[in-house]
Amino acid sequence: MDPELPGNTSAPTTINYDQYRFAGLPATYFNTAANDADGVTECILYGGMKEAICAQPDFPKAVPRALVPAHQIAPSVGAGLGMFATRAIRAHELIFAERPLLLMPAAFWPTQGRGFDRESMIAHSNEMLKCAIKRMTPANRAAYCALSNSHLRDGSPELFGILRTNGFSVGERLREVITQLPEGPMGMFTVIGKELSRINHSCSPNSHVDFDLCSLSLRVSAVRNIAEGEEITTMYCDLLDPCTTRRRTLSPYGFTCACEACQHRIDSDVRRRRIHASHHLWKDATFERWLRKPPQVDDQYKMQLLRLLRLIEEENLQLLQGYRNTRQKLAFVCAALGDKPNAIKYAKDVIGTRSPIRGVVPISAEKTLLNKAARSLIEPHLSKKVGARTHEMSRA
Ligand SMILES: [Zn+2]
Repeated sequence: MDPELPGNTSAPTTINYDQYRFAGLPATYFNTAANDADGVTECILYGGMKEAICAQPDFPKAVPRALVPAHQIAPSVGAGLGMFATRAIRAHELIFAERPLLLMPAAFWPTQGRGFDRESMIAHSNEMLKCAIKRMTPANRAAYCALSNSHLRDGSPELFGILRTNGFSVGERLREVITQLPEGPMGMFTVIGKELSRINHSCSPNSHVDFDLCSLSLRVSAVRNIAEGEEITTMYCDLLDPCTTRRRTLSPYGFTCACEACQHRIDSDVRRRRIHASHHLWKDATFERWLRKPPQVDDQYKMQLLRLLRLIEEENLQLLQGYRNTRQKLAFVCAALGDKPNAIKYAKDVIGTRSPIRGVVPISAEKTLLNKAARSLIEPHLSKKVGARTHEMSRA
């Protein structure tokens, strides 16, 4: 048995950035047949991180499974391989989850005071990567090396080029558990999936890739309804940037995006600018004060939020965090105005994006879980503005 099994670890310690640790998680055994049924992720971590990961209650949780398989990897026009829906998929449904092949810092930077040299950073990162890949099972090693590499002509060594082409950024998710992990370059971590790394880009993506540290799983869920045969896409750049900026950001990936938004860039850029300019609605402090006010017939927030929701849907940007924030605020506004059915409807969408429920549990259990969670989300705001109900109905 590996002496570094999760059960043998101590409480989280401080993170030591001068110390790197190679570890197969949840655990690796000399007899690979004894490894976790969901697989092993080869990790490069700072000192103390492994202890913090293994100290999570219930670690390692099982990787969630879609009840009915929904995807396949197949050739995508102009983009090598891609992921495709093999059946109709509902919004917020889990499409697929897997234990990643690799989790490591996005790059190995010189620590403070040693200066910065891009070439040596790349060479050092590639050496570290080589060690991690050597430790993988033969099947995982072959899967990593088979991934695409769009950094063939920029001086990136092959293994590091594959990392740059296929990595998903997960620093933010790690910080939720390992709060000492800093923001900025030292806190940037990347994961590589075996199948999820095949998902191609669209400026109006239909799926969301997320990472969960307790189950050590990379997941992809639908952000809107997806038709059978449709390619499953995600984002490789800031979706609210104008088309020319997005093209510049995407150029290292070696393709020119031809999605609907890029084909109709002038109208699309105008809509995306308007969505960007609506950010204040998500952060507006007066909104919280409005929610706490005594009953009144004031639906200004509902109208503004509905306009923003339509604009985001018109541009197919349901992946934006702002889309979820807008629906959450709509749930609260509808609850406060006494419109419980719509409050529940928006709240269920918000819950659906938070955790994999749709597609993971049977429909009957899904309805119960979503209704219960939605009711508890809107409960604090429900019917505070009972006087507004009549007014709302007369506007409808
Ligand atoms: Zn595009």
